[in-house]
Amino acid sequence: MLRRLAVCHPPIWVDMCSLAIQRTRGRNGCVSDRGDMAQGDFNRKVQQFMNGRRGPDDLANLCVWVAVILVLVDLFAHTGWLSWVSMALVVYAVWRMCSKNVYARMNENDAFLKALGPVRPWLQNPGRAAHELRTYKHVKCPSCGQKVRVPRGKGKLRVTCPKCHEKFEVKS
Ligand SMILES: [Zn+2]
Repeated sequence: MLRRLAVCHPPIWVDMCSLAIQRTRGRNGCVSDRGDMAQGDFNRKVQQFMNGRRGPDDLANLCVWVAVILVLVDLFAHTGWLSWVSMALVVYAVWRMCSKNVYARMNENDAFLKALGPVRPWLQNPGRAAHELRTYKHVKCPSCGQKVRVPRGKGKLRVTCPKCHEKFEVKS
């Protein structure tokens, strides 16, 4: 019985697969082609619309993420106003992406990234920031204050500052 099942399984599989292929292809096999064309058309229209506009940037992305978090918080907190704030954030993000004043938006984004300071890598790529923290230690040059990155766990290291060439020792 078991062997028979095993024998008769593959043909059923094949049947199901070919059925699935037929479905996606349609009866005369051109539905998926038309589907692709519609998809390409849509992409082209989006591309045309976004031409000369800012598109997503760090500030817009952060707004969307904060909005999502606020909506989730509001699911439990039931404040009502939090969902309005998140809606405003999404509207602002969409407005940024569609803005044609690319230069002004770029300056805002740069100022935002600068204001974030050391938090920036954690927001942009938390995985990489965590890896960076595990692998490297950041020290300041005692002479000019230049930040220098040294590998962790290598004992006492003699570092030459890349800016003022001052030599100093650090415990890594
Ligand atoms: Zn220095």
